[in-house]
Amino acid sequence: MKKELLDLMNCPKCHAELSESGDSLQCSKCGYNARMVQGIPLFTDVPATIEPWAKVERGPDKGTAWRKSNWKFLNAFISQLPADAKILDVGAGHGDFADIFDGRQYYSLDIVPYAEVDLVADLGAVNPFKDNSFDVVVLMNVLEHVYESRNLLKSISRIVKSGCSVVITVPFLLKVHQAPFDFARYTPYFLEKMAEDAGLQVESLQGYYDTQYLLNESLGNAWQYSINTQPKPQQMVAKTLVFIIQRLVNWFGKVTRKGFIAETQSQINPAPVGYLMVLRKKA
Ligand SMILES: [Zn+2]
Repeated sequence: MKKELLDLMNCPKCHAELSESGDSLQCSKCGYNARMVQGIPLFTDVPATIEPWAKVERGPDKGTAWRKSNWKFLNAFISQLPADAKILDVGAGHGDFADIFDGRQYYSLDIVPYAEVDLVADLGAVNPFKDNSFDVVVLMNVLEHVYESRNLLKSISRIVKSGCSVVITVPFLLKVHQAPFDFARYTPYFLEKMAEDAGLQVESLQGYYDTQYLLNESLGNAWQYSINTQPKPQQMVAKTLVFIIQRLVNWFGKVTRKGFIAETQSQINPAPVGYLMVLRKKA
């Protein structure tokens, strides 16, 4: 494993040094030992029911409108960082946003042993990093998949340097996904309180607003549970109507404001697809 990464870690039990020995990482003091599989240390057991999700090609112009907004937001934040900033991507999966971190001091982890990650850990339960290790910790669409999300944020707060940032995106109006590992949708008030409890200050809290996207999502739902359940003649009519409505929605999208990121407080009827936030650790 990367030497620079090992330097940022210590024993999650007694905080003594860890060193590579055979196919495990061992504590020099208490005997704690993390198994390594193909060079990746496993600090938490991988849930038996979990399967790695297939890789989906992502990029600045790929995926859903929400994903594109995430890309734009993260890229803008990362590109203004100094070249030597240490970045940790928590819940990185296959590295959906890896291109943004190209050439940087970037490390990634997940609770699923994806080939692309540097380590496997559930940081809310076991955190093998030293205090104040990172300039930025990134949580892209992760909080909703973590049942003990408040513990996770507290644990992350410890390993971020004072004055440094945690970057988060989290969906609000998005269907249940990666089931059964989808536990929550948060309001800004929960997110603010959660940050405060973790010793983090909200530097910015924005939403991604996109009416056309939400209309299309609703149409997708209509197909799933309002149309397929109907008798054949009704289905015929409904499907024709959906076809027409879809065209109308596209037309609507052409003449109305495109999806945009804005401060949550500036919106009169706040119902975004999701939230994008930057938190800063109090000095
Ligand atoms: Zn130890």
